Amino acid sequence: MAYKSVKGTKDLLPQDTVAWQHVERVIREVMDLYRYAEIRTPMFEETAVFARGIGEETDVVGKEMYTFTDKGGSSLTLRPEMTASVIRSFIQHSMGEQTSLNKLYYIGPMFRQERPQAGRFRQFHQYGFESIGQQGPECDAEIIAIAAAIYDRLGISYSLKLNSVGDPTCRPRYREALQEFLRGVFDQLSPESQRRTETNPMRVLDSKDERDREATAGAPLIVDYLSEESRVHFERTRALLDALGIAYELDPRLVRGLDYYTMTAFEFVSTDLGSQDALGGGGRYDGLVEQLGGKYTPAVGFAAGIERLLMVMEKNGYEFPVSTPTVYIVGMDDASRSWAFQTAIALRRKGIAAEIDYAGRSLKAQMREANKLSCPYVAIVGESELEAGQAQVKDMRKGTQESVEFTRLADYFIQDIAN
Ligand code: AMP
Repeated sequence: MAYKSVKGTKDLLPQDTVAWQHVERVIREVMDLYRYAEIRTPMFEETAVFARGIGEETDVVGKEMYTFTDKGGSSLTLRPEMTASVIRSFIQHSMGEQTSLNKLYYIGPMFRQERPQAGRFRQFHQYGFESIGQQGPECDAEIIAIAAAIYDRLGISYSLKLNSVGDPTCRPRYREALQEFLRGVFDQLSPESQRRTETNPMRVLDSKDERDREATAGAPLIVDYLSEESRVHFERTRALLDALGIAYELDPRLVRGLDYYTMTAFEFVSTDLGSQDALGGGGRYDGLVEQLGGKYTPAVGFAAGIERLLMVMEKNGYEFPVSTPTVYIVGMDDASRSWAFQTAIALRRKGIAAEIDYAGRSLKAQMREANKLSCPYVAIVGESELEAGQAQVKDMRKGTQESVEFTRLADYFIQDIAN
């Protein structure tokens, strides 16, 4: 029986990883510019980290986690997202005591047992960044600016939705008002939203179900309930985004749905995706560090899916840079093949990408291969070249050919790379 990769997971083959590496490179370049440092945490954690960190009432924790008991009887979970892990690590290593602002980023696989469909996988990949330690709206605006910068560099068009979800001083009052409203339209709500009316009423507002949308058309909105502090923070964040020329659309129904979220909530969506149109999202989560057992520490962050980003890029016909060797070394007989093998390794040791034939193919077949790889140079060596200590180097772009002494070969290509 032939084995296959598990449902909802995918092999990334060499033709795929070219695009992945490009995207990862761009993310790392932007993170360097904004001075965020990479953090890598384990792929699994104690289940409680996510249950407490994400919230029992969320779909992710309630329905989608890969949780198992190990041989020692501990309940462990494959990470469904990174923020909870990052904060667990932040607390464990007392990172807040070393500096007043920790700017961290990550790239890696996440695991959720969702129904696989276009844009939804069980192992998928996220990149994200967290600014931990400061309350100022500059941190919120910076996180949004970074997300936008990465999309811009990758040629992805998006729209940005922005909202404030308030803070612990104003949200209880809003929650009560919303709950009262929802109880009044209870019969018109979907079963899921009926349940959430009691457990997580704010999530009813971002339900995609038409029934819920109609029933909640006149629902009270958080913007009308914001505390003075939240209102000022929202205004200042917006002013900073305006000054940066980052366009956004206010969406009073956008909620991130978790108790620890405070103030800024945002989401990037793409019109190039189908029903799963969310590219990524984030917000401020001033309550999370405390929730996970640390000292009160304000923070704001963003997380986005790499598969969705690639789907948009492929749809737009984005041309990913392909890697080509500088030179293909062609050996015509046994002795020159052996020379080609050693020379390829010598060139690689000097930083020049070289390719050779490993299958004993004819001169013609080797030339065809060099062409297929789009090598700018082909170095050809046979019996007489070996004797003379010179290779015939063909410039494939110009169509010219010259003899180059073996001892000069590396410099010849190094110069070409430098030009
Ligand atoms: P979330 O942590 O649910 O806010 O997700 C953040 C981003 O990760 C989403 O906007 C998607 O781009 C991506 N994402 C979440 N779940 C999946 C999944 N099952 N498959 C692929 N991408 C996902």
